[in-house]
Amino acid sequence: MIPIRFDTAVVLYLLAVLAVIVAAGVYNAIRRWAMRVEPTPTRIFRCARCAHAYLDAHDLELARCPRCGTENEPQRI
Ligand SMILES: [Zn+2]
Repeated sequence: MIPIRFDTAVVLYLLAVLAVIVAAGVYNAIRRWAMRVEPTPTRIFRCARCAHAYLDAHDLELARCPRCGTENEPQRI
């Protein structure tokens, strides 16, 4: 067994606890970074023919209604 002074043992214990806390923080930061969600530019459309409301993430001026096929402009909010 290695002889060690009491104050050295306390410092080593505190450093070990600090290392565990830092490791948990890094692990949590990596998890948050891996689970991030990028917002997509989604626009709301309302069909002028059948009044169906729908979303479209494509960057187009007109989007085709999924029910009747009419092309519509995005709604201004
Ligand atoms: Zn429609």
